[in-house]
Amino acid sequence: MQSVTILGATGSIGTSTLDVIARHPDRYCVFALTAFSRREALREQCIKHRPAIAVIGSELDAAWLRNALAEHGLPTEVLSGEQALVDVANAGEVDIVMAAIVGAAGLVPTLAAVRAGKRVLLANKEALVTSGALFMKEVEQSGALLLPIDSEHNAIFQCLPHQHREGLARQGVSQLLLTASGGPFRDWPAERLKDVTPDQACAHPNWSMGRKISVDSASMMNKGLELIEACWLFDTTPDKIQIVIHPQSVIHSMAAYNDGSVLAQLGNPDMRTPIAFGLAWPERIDAGVEMLDLFAIGRLDFEAPDERRFPCLRLAREAMNAGDSAPAVLNAANEIAVQAFLEDQLAFVSIPELVEAVLISQPLQPITDLDSVLEYDRRARDEARRLLRSRFS
Ligand code: NAD
Ligand code: MG
Repeated sequence: MQSVTILGATGSIGTSTLDVIARHPDRYCVFALTAFSRREALREQCIKHRPAIAVIGSELDAAWLRNALAEHGLPTEVLSGEQALVDVANAGEVDIVMAAIVGAAGLVPTLAAVRAGKRVLLANKEALVTSGALFMKEVEQSGALLLPIDSEHNAIFQCLPHQHREGLARQGVSQLLLTASGGPFRDWPAERLKDVTPDQACAHPNWSMGRKISVDSASMMNKGLELIEACWLFDTTPDKIQIVIHPQSVIHSMAAYNDGSVLAQLGNPDMRTPIAFGLAWPERIDAGVEMLDLFAIGRLDFEAPDERRFPCLRLAREAMNAGDSAPAVLNAANEIAVQAFLEDQLAFVSIPELVEAVLISQPLQPITDLDSVLEYDRRARDEARRLLRSRFS
């Protein structure tokens, strides 16, 4: 029996993870569930999955949850705050940690799980983007098993030989092909993008996801973050990764080999597939996902990305090539920009403008330890907020 902590249990990935776990009560039990503020949702999950521990952002919500769970006679211990997230990520009782908090807020607990040598299922791409080299060094040193949950990276993992960490070139891999749906505005002319609303941006054609990643998908920053994520996970560089727009989201990504073979992983766009893969690897378990119906899909299309309408892709590539603190700055500025857009404080087309302005303003600094990452993240957020008030209001 494997014991699982889900960081970000009430989110889209967290909910799908609980769905898969509930299909295999003989294999998995829930140790801890965490949420930021959705206390009713966390209460329902605790009643259904009976974790040993539940963690919520504020002590006020924790007190409410303690009462609510006591009424149901549940023995679940309720904790609050950031240290509690770390404690449930590295607890001795835990075998598997699903890292599904959104944004750099997930970095510290995810790294704690890595340092404790857990099986870490990484959905929280921002954690890896902000701290890349440091994060991967900790994985090497602790012996943690890092399995990508982001569908593209999970697909590439499935298409690579198991020894891929020894170097892609040595395994005959010439290129990675990262597919992208293109988001809801893929074929919109540039003029129409000026008036995009948050609800339009969050209405993704193929995937149902949290609001932040939905906006990132619409701006293509998601693919930019994934480009950086792929560089770290597979020890490669942006020039070895081709972004391929594939509107049907059936091929989740590919690996090209030097003999001309291209291996792809296909499936319905349902995150339970990579989640089940991560939970059970190297075994395969039922994920509750319907079999792909190729006749219903009919055709698969591909096109090149348009970086003129979607500059976030270029900004992410430049940040990765610049290295050091640049990806952390890119990510922090984007988090502030997306939040401002969702609150109607910033136009959709100004997201890349704000991110670029913050990137230009921040000096490139080496990442020495976790504190340095958190410091560059904080400074970039401060600068983004300042620019929002002065230049973008
Ligand atoms: P979501 O917004 O639906 O859920 C986020 C979760 O994180 C919630 O449980 C929330 O309570 C928690 N959270 C938010 N802010 C927090 C904070 N400051 N401290 C602690 N907890 C906090 O997001 P999601 O769509 O499930 O995405 C989660 C992560 O997985 C993101 O990094 C996203 O990029 C990645 N991802 C998601 C999908 C998808 O299909 N949803 C696919 C690939 C990767
Ligand atoms: Mg993805």
